[in-house]
Amino acid sequence: MSDYVIPAWDRPAVPVAGSEQRFPVRHIYCVGRNYAAHAREMGRDPDREPPFFFTKAADQIVPGGGKVPYPPRTQDMHHEIELVVAIGKEGADISVEAAKDHIYGYAIGVDLTRRDLQMASRELGRPWDTGKQFENAAPIGSIHPVSAIGHPESGEITFSVNGELKQKGDLRDLIWSVDEVIAELSTLYRLMPGDLIYTGTPAGVGPMAPGDIGEGKIEGLDEIRIEIVG
Ligand code: MN
Repeated sequence: MSDYVIPAWDRPAVPVAGSEQRFPVRHIYCVGRNYAAHAREMGRDPDREPPFFFTKAADQIVPGGGKVPYPPRTQDMHHEIELVVAIGKEGADISVEAAKDHIYGYAIGVDLTRRDLQMASRELGRPWDTGKQFENAAPIGSIHPVSAIGHPESGEITFSVNGELKQKGDLRDLIWSVDEVIAELSTLYRLMPGDLIYTGTPAGVGPMAPGDIGEGKIEGLDEIRIEIVG
């Protein structure tokens, strides 16, 4: 018998490529403005100021992609295609040199954003939560273990909507590398197995509406496809 007073829910989890097993999700951290061209399109200077972070809730993942209901209270939901890092080993104050030891694997993900709400918060100096955190805000493809693919440090990252290329970048253009992001983030939080880090998006973000099909690709990983439904 359960000792919970209401029915408990399943732990959010992401499929692992080439396996029947799944990766359980604890926290979702996201990096803001980590490609220069995207920082510019958001009206910000892409100088190498320290990376900054926001979060999503673990139960907002959409494992494997698929249908994504259009979220409420927005007229401007945007796609942001991103490399996602899956943490496999606990650590705080991790050095850049040791960062790779903490990575279980990599996935492709979409940081869906209610851009109108995010920009309104930004102008008022309020938290970004309503712009970034909502149901189904974090589609994610399979996690590819480091044991299978190593550590991708370059490779094309793209996102198209209804077959039209919208976002295009290269992992080598990350302002803050994955290792540097882990080092900085781990000064703020003890990173734990199950944590995911969405590492930022290249330029070309834009709206999606019900009926739109989005397809994301990162060289060396599986693709993700999402369909926005009304
Ligand atoms: Mn993002």
